[in-house]
Amino acid sequence: MTEPLPTRKTIALLTALTCSIVGPLSGSATTTPQAGPFVAETARFELRSAPRIALHHFLLAWAADDAGEWPRYALPLAERDNWRSVLDEQEQREWSAAVEAYATTVGRSLLFDEGLLAARAWAAGALPHADIDAADRPLTEALESVLPIFVHHWWPTHDARNRAWIESISPTLGRVEENMAVRFEAAYGGRWPATAIPVDVMVYANAVGAYSSDGRLTISSDPLGNQMPQGLEMIFHEASHTDPLEQPLRAGLGAAFLAAGGTEPDRFWHDVIFFTSGEITRLALAAQGEPGYQHYGTLGVYRRGERWARQLPALEEHWRPFLESGSQDAAARNRALEALAAQLLAGDD
Ligand SMILES: [Zn+2]
Repeated sequence: MTEPLPTRKTIALLTALTCSIVGPLSGSATTTPQAGPFVAETARFELRSAPRIALHHFLLAWAADDAGEWPRYALPLAERDNWRSVLDEQEQREWSAAVEAYATTVGRSLLFDEGLLAARAWAAGALPHADIDAADRPLTEALESVLPIFVHHWWPTHDARNRAWIESISPTLGRVEENMAVRFEAAYGGRWPATAIPVDVMVYANAVGAYSSDGRLTISSDPLGNQMPQGLEMIFHEASHTDPLEQPLRAGLGAAFLAAGGTEPDRFWHDVIFFTSGEITRLALAAQGEPGYQHYGTLGVYRRGERWARQLPALEEHWRPFLESGSQDAAARNRALEALAAQLLAGDD
């Protein structure tokens, strides 16, 4: 996800959860009982609400906001409005020091900066602290120093919102994920990751509300575009960025444009992920008696500029029929991609 999302208007309604719930996890290091991770597992995903990883992103966002680098389209940091009245003076000093330590992260890429990815993995409980680069140890020390403050003042509200989001998406996910995963594999010519994809759910993710890196998804429980039913599309959109799915798609598109006598437009593969995620979500919901799903892109992405005005008809004419067919035939897939490429290249003349 690298496009701005609309801001959430309402918190998702709590619905009954049919997938298995595990938590708090035993053996995890937490400062208070209520800080334990909440985990909902489906066959293909592991949805988590946990304080360290949430605090890591909260501090990243707060530091970015301090530097004027938290964009206007991003979810505003509501806690800033009254934090001085919520925290006592000692807590304010500690919080300010932690945010100051995170100032070094401003401008670094959450997707590609290896130091930040290591800090994220550690905060998610997936990497030992010894593997954090010395240059980034001040981040983990700052995070630990204010974890009790975060857990005491803000985490109960954040955690409740994360759990509500997880509980809103998990039942549908459990019903449709097998069918959808097979369709994504066929569409991209790839394989679903071998183990369930970890999904860290938090109020403040990155500026656009979701990202995927190193096989791990980060999703905000807040923006409108992440709520059901679009939330279902968003989680599969982010899953599409895992290497075993994204890399074969990119290779296949490159080959299709080559065969059609040209080169792929810049980042067209990402637009294909947008369309494919929307279409497979539409098909999956329709198959279980919920027709009429509108792609997430119709909320804004598809209306942006000349690029989508040309692409959308081509995707609908050449790519949608292949997705609708449910075919797992690689030759049929390649023919569809080549027809798509040929139409887009013809439009360039
Ligand atoms: Zn994306």
